[in-house]
Amino acid sequence: MTVLGEGALIDLHVHSTASDGTLPPSAVVAAAAVAGLDVMALTDHDTLAGWDEAFAACPSGLTVVPGLELSCVYTVGGQRPISVHLLGYLVDPQHPGLVAELSRLRTERRRRGEKIVEKLVAAGYPITWDRVREFADGGSIGRPHVGRALVEAGVVASVDEAFTELLSAAGPFYVRKVDVDAFAGVQLITAAGGVSVFAHPAAGRRGRVVDEAAIAALAEAGLAGIEVDHPDHLPVERERLRVLAADLGLVATGSSDFHGSNKVNRLGQHTTEPSAYRDLMAGAWGSRPYVG
Ligand code: AMP
Ligand code: ZN
Ligand code: FE
Ligand code: FE
Repeated sequence: MTVLGEGALIDLHVHSTASDGTLPPSAVVAAAAVAGLDVMALTDHDTLAGWDEAFAACPSGLTVVPGLELSCVYTVGGQRPISVHLLGYLVDPQHPGLVAELSRLRTERRRRGEKIVEKLVAAGYPITWDRVREFADGGSIGRPHVGRALVEAGVVASVDEAFTELLSAAGPFYVRKVDVDAFAGVQLITAAGGVSVFAHPAAGRRGRVVDEAAIAALAEAGLAGIEVDHPDHLPVERERLRVLAADLGLVATGSSDFHGSNKVNRLGQHTTEPSAYRDLMAGAWGSRPYVG
């Protein structure tokens, strides 16, 4: 691994057009260099499809950490499952179990995206599934693609407004997808040679969040870190999570969750300490960071 100085800028959560970001992987790595990042992890939802393009376009001086954001759920006895996003870094892209599960999740995203569109169309909103698929452009389909169709149709002014008005998990047009059990997700990432980090664990604006006991249980199962500094966390939540990470022996990370123009988050908006980055990557063997 390259030696990183104390001031190195490390952003471990970034999306591209391989899922619901608006910049192709080649443009994301270029933008990361312009933003002054030293390390950027590409973490598209349920796909590794952006890796090769990001490596090929990686500017000199930037390190690209290949990753993903795995759609999971945490279920406690009888209650409604809580959505959990697991960031996985340096997994083996050929691992058969991981490849199969990602393929299943992308199929599930198409099925569920089409159902959401059917509900919206039935309620009179002038969008089409074909247009949503065009926005996804072969990538992992998500609600932001439906949001862009709603913006184009003049129903809402922004993707953010599409979420608050129509697409939120509490709204009438929401359709659940069948995600991976969070413990199975941690085990799958570990089995594929990667390390897992619980993304935005306190992002309550998106829906219900798990309690500290759940994070402790996932840590027992092999979770390596939690995202502490994230745009959807209030300062008080960040401080609580920093203490929790230390108590549980988890690595505390920081990142932007950049999605291009689908979200306001800026590349490098939050960053990870170089020592935390080193500790985290030391546990992975499935693939290597690409040094440009
Ligand atoms: P899905 O993966 O289809 O369930 O859609 C959730 C994704 O939409 C998340 O990964 C978020 O990054 C994104 N998202 C959530 N809320 C918003 C919002 N208010 N504006 C834009 N994107 C959002
Ligand atoms: Zn996303
Ligand atoms: Fe997420
Ligand atoms: Fe994300």
